[in-house]
Amino acid sequence: MDLSREYAKELDAQDALSVYRDEFYIQPETIYMDGNSLGLLSKRAEKSVLELLDSWKTLGINGWMQGGHPWFYLSEKLGKMSASLVGAKAEEVVVTGSTTTNLHQLVSTFYNPQGKRTKILADELNFPSDIYALQSQLKLRGYDPDHHLIRVKSRDGRLIDEDDIIGNMHEDVALVVLPTVLYRSGQLLDIERLTKEAHNRGIMIGFDGCHSAGAIPHEFHKWGVDFAYWCNYKYLNSGPGGVGSLFVHEKHFGKVPGLAGWFGSDKEKQFDMEHTFSPAKDAGAFQIGTPHVMSVAPLLGSLEMFEEATIDKVREKSLRSTRYLMDLIEAELSSHGFVIGNPKEDEYRGGHVCLEHTEAARICKSLKEHGIVPDFRAPNVIRLAPVALYVSYEEVWETVQIMKRIMDEKLYEKHENKREIIA
Ligand SMILES: *Cc1c(COP(=O)(O)O)cnc(C)c1O
Repeated sequence: MDLSREYAKELDAQDALSVYRDEFYIQPETIYMDGNSLGLLSKRAEKSVLELLDSWKTLGINGWMQGGHPWFYLSEKLGKMSASLVGAKAEEVVVTGSTTTNLHQLVSTFYNPQGKRTKILADELNFPSDIYALQSQLKLRGYDPDHHLIRVKSRDGRLIDEDDIIGNMHEDVALVVLPTVLYRSGQLLDIERLTKEAHNRGIMIGFDGCHSAGAIPHEFHKWGVDFAYWCNYKYLNSGPGGVGSLFVHEKHFGKVPGLAGWFGSDKEKQFDMEHTFSPAKDAGAFQIGTPHVMSVAPLLGSLEMFEEATIDKVREKSLRSTRYLMDLIEAELSSHGFVIGNPKEDEYRGGHVCLEHTEAARICKSLKEHGIVPDFRAPNVIRLAPVALYVSYEEVWETVQIMKRIMDEKLYEKHENKREIIA
């Protein structure tokens, strides 16, 4: 392979998405490889924040129904704008809550233990918050999570074998909850296959799309996924604490939300102020309280960019960038004890590269010292995400060059091999 900087520049010159890079606030002397944890601010997101702030400034209470983006319909409008990212119908997505609160809402709704079918199936590599939510949901129903939460084991500590998941779909399982992409290794699961297998056994299935929304196209509607939820602050660049999203398949419209609140109401009836809840007829029913207008504001501008760029092109570039990064790592860093922990095949690879090393914590500190922002996941993982809309191929090249210098000259040794509070 061509290891030159010129080749990276050529890739950039051919890249149709390179125009979006200028729309982001990229700090000088910094290569941002952490968009899988917190995406960068774009100028369009900044603009939509200022617009919504202005609507409050100038309209006061009337902002609910007036202005360019009436707040009363904003969650649904953003849901509609997100639908194509996950292959949903407009009414199947609503922007509300957070990943974890949406999971609570969806489990409260879709977990219906009956007879012998009482267990929830997850995996042992899932994000802790999802597991905490599932454990607490089981406790609320009077079940012991140690017995009722099955966590499919990983054979190698990195990946989950889909056959092992399917092999655990026994007749005592009521609900399966899995990530679309595993947050550490970046493994992309076959959502269509798992959904089909769960349904063949009469089991409901939902997915956490935090690490794929905005990076990978899905067909949630077509595949018949029962529900999904995700955050918008990672690949979708909606800012720290940005509001999350949920998907509920059309076939479940009319299901009564496990956790009801007035913003789940049929919009025509909400202000009747009746004590009888009339839920919306679509995914909107799963909202609870007043939308966090200021915290969804950036998403408005950000989603506009995805509508233009299209998720298919984003995925295409992301696959090319992660492939390029892996090839460079293998060519330049192979003598330094790195192991690529993510799946290498395109069908199973998410948006980031998972680089394992026993000295990962201090290599990350050294990378930061040299202007690269990676992230570290204990005990030994460096995640690098060359995000399609704002990371250039030349930056990918530069990252590997800097990492090579850090390793060749053992520059990481001046740091302690210990994680910081936020890693
Ligand atoms: C980022 C992430 C979360 C975070 O949940 P919040 O409620 O937004 O804090 C949960 N699950 C997964 C898989 C994640 O990647």
